[in-house]
Amino acid sequence: MSGIEKKDLLMKLGLEDVNSGVFYGKWSPIGGKETITSYSPIDGKPIGKVTMATREDYENVMNAAQNSFERWSSVPAPKRGQVVRKIGDELRKYKEMLGKLVSIEVGKTVVEGCGEVQEMIDISDFAVGLSRQLYGLTIASEREAHRLYEQWLPLGPIGVITAFNFPCAVWAWNSMIAATVGDVVIWKPSSKAVLTARAVIEIVNKIVMDLGYPPIFFLLVGRGDEVGEWISSDRRLPLISFTGSVPTGRRISENVAKRLGRTILELGGNNAAIVTDKADMNIALKGVTFGALATTGQRCTTTRRLILQENVYDIFVNRLKGIYAKAKIGNPLEEGVLIGPLIDKRAYEGYEIAIEQATKQGGRVVYGGERVSIPGLEEGYYVKPTLIEADLGMDILNVETFAPILYVLKYRTIEEAIEIHNSVPQGLSSAIFTKDLREMEYFLSHKGSDCGIANVNTSTAGAEIGGAFGGEKETGGGRESGSDAWKSYMRRQTDTINYGNKLPLAQGVEFKV
Ligand code: NAD
Repeated sequence: MSGIEKKDLLMKLGLEDVNSGVFYGKWSPIGGKETITSYSPIDGKPIGKVTMATREDYENVMNAAQNSFERWSSVPAPKRGQVVRKIGDELRKYKEMLGKLVSIEVGKTVVEGCGEVQEMIDISDFAVGLSRQLYGLTIASEREAHRLYEQWLPLGPIGVITAFNFPCAVWAWNSMIAATVGDVVIWKPSSKAVLTARAVIEIVNKIVMDLGYPPIFFLLVGRGDEVGEWISSDRRLPLISFTGSVPTGRRISENVAKRLGRTILELGGNNAAIVTDKADMNIALKGVTFGALATTGQRCTTTRRLILQENVYDIFVNRLKGIYAKAKIGNPLEEGVLIGPLIDKRAYEGYEIAIEQATKQGGRVVYGGERVSIPGLEEGYYVKPTLIEADLGMDILNVETFAPILYVLKYRTIEEAIEIHNSVPQGLSSAIFTKDLREMEYFLSHKGSDCGIANVNTSTAGAEIGGAFGGEKETGGGRESGSDAWKSYMRRQTDTINYGNKLPLAQGVEFKV
């Protein structure tokens, strides 16, 4: 993409050299404020600047959000769903443009960037249906002439803090559901993806406000240790949905717990694929390659550990090496490229350190392990995808390194494979490749994978929006996106109505007055 094409794209998405990063029904003035510069990982060059929220901006956003919540939560849910339907329609028009912006700002391939926008569209569609399905249960009462039921009510303005690697899809998973159930959303995006956030907020609020509704999607760009802290400590936000690393999630969790608020935590993964000697090898190879290499190993669901049955170990590793050698590394805007850059220098240092530690701990690098220089893009951090033969007990196996490093382990029995699989602190996604019914069902049983997501004959990465997404253990236990994840964005009320002419008490208690 030429410089002129890039400028044109940014202009069409309403982006200038310096942009306001605070939205509360209007964009906050930019004059005199500190800015965050967004750099493209493709060539390391700046793309644009976005202002950071001041404390005054923060209060403006909170006040506007509270006012909007009053109005928006009173709109009937199916009508809210119609607004979300129009948002989905608008996003369809912007799919290509936003997808390219995602690619430029975080370095994933254009196909993956567009896929991310498609996820926003899909969750909007899901939310439209949901707007007519916010059911509560009716429960048989033990008392005569009583009705006992539960209903779900909007929760309030909620805070959404997102990671760099899914700069708009994760926001949409939260926000389309939250908006449909009657909440309004205050978003603190990653400081590495501020332009995507700014463009998305502009597109979606225009739809909402043109339809005569108050703004429901607010934006607060700023540093995690400042704006992020304000958000997590603020009692006016009953729910904080956080997506990011385990250490940051732990910090946020403590802040929110101190005020007895609620969290949805979507933290790091350390996902493994088990390939048994009964697998369809072609499917397994494709599934593992996609899981390990997509988004240059920078997905929470990236396959980081490969657990191979000893009879297929050598052949699988050899074939994988062949695929790795052919995977094109380079500018993610170019067709045919599979592996783009790492997000920044720190990510590259993390890659280097992990390889060094793995080697010290006895690991053998059998492919990759080095930086790649792409002509004309020397400032970008491109690396070879890396395969490391590892042994059980190596400490590095417990660490999520956000880079395309795959540790390969050998097992003999399926029980051993599961033990290796479950031996890490994280519990997000998992996969088994097998055609054997017993192995498959064992993997899916309570004795099998301990993760929130367990797949058979498909990759650890690439979830659909229809299921509830999230993981166990240090991944945080949150669930978002589809299924009944909407319940986390509402408050449940249990209601008892006495329509009789007596006052019987529960448990048959007599209270004689
Ligand atoms: P990160 O933890 O560095 O940052 C995430 C967000 O937290 C950013 O917006 C950041 O500005 C903010 N933040 C930083 N300090 C904060 C503080 N003290 N208070 C509040 N907010 C603060 O993560 P990252 O590098 O952007 O993303 C990569 C991580 O995210 C990986 O661990 C990955 O597995 C995880 N992730 C998880 C999921 C999931 O659904 N489980 C999805 C995507 C990414």
